[in-house]
Amino acid sequence: TDPLLPIQRLIRSVADFPKPGVTFRDVTPLLADAGGFARCIDALAEPWQGSGVQAVCGIESRGFIFGAALAQKLHAGFVPLRKPGKLPPPLVTVEYELEYGRDALQARSDALKPGERTLIVDDVLATGGTLAAARELVERLDAVLVGASVLIELPALGGRSRWSGEAPVHSLLRY
Ligand code: IMP
Repeated sequence: TDPLLPIQRLIRSVADFPKPGVTFRDVTPLLADAGGFARCIDALAEPWQGSGVQAVCGIESRGFIFGAALAQKLHAGFVPLRKPGKLPPPLVTVEYELEYGRDALQARSDALKPGERTLIVDDVLATGGTLAAARELVERLDAVLVGASVLIELPALGGRSRWSGEAPVHSLLRY
């Protein structure tokens, strides 16, 4: 049997949220399940064992939860990539397109050391705009991008095609 099945069973799909036609994947039941959450972090860490990750960048806000646990598992530090208005200066900012309008991610301008081996983490890869912006932030900080991990990928939205270069993107579950 598929070892990811117990993880998948703890993700709740909610039709027409946050707007009609969208199916929201709710990870809070997974977080609340001690065994499921632990297995999820083990599975997220597995492809990166031995790859010398020194920093895990988590994207606000669910990327903080998975990213912080993953950082501990990989014996790496944790760096939050935040929405505007949350972090004090000096900052590096990358703006990106949303379906309607623009958003941005920010990090402290010395949050990563030059050359630091860095992994990006988020809960869901949808259109890929968020992950691409995180990638640009890591590059602007002169860190070395090892790759990215997401819990859930929505392949129909083509997020992977907005990710360029050699660093791999791993997803545990695809809907
Ligand atoms: P993207 O930029 O279109 O790839 O969207 C990814 C971002 O939107 C991530 O930070 C996710 O947290 C969030 N997101 C998109 N769809 C969902 C969902 O179904 N559940 C939870 N978060 C989502």
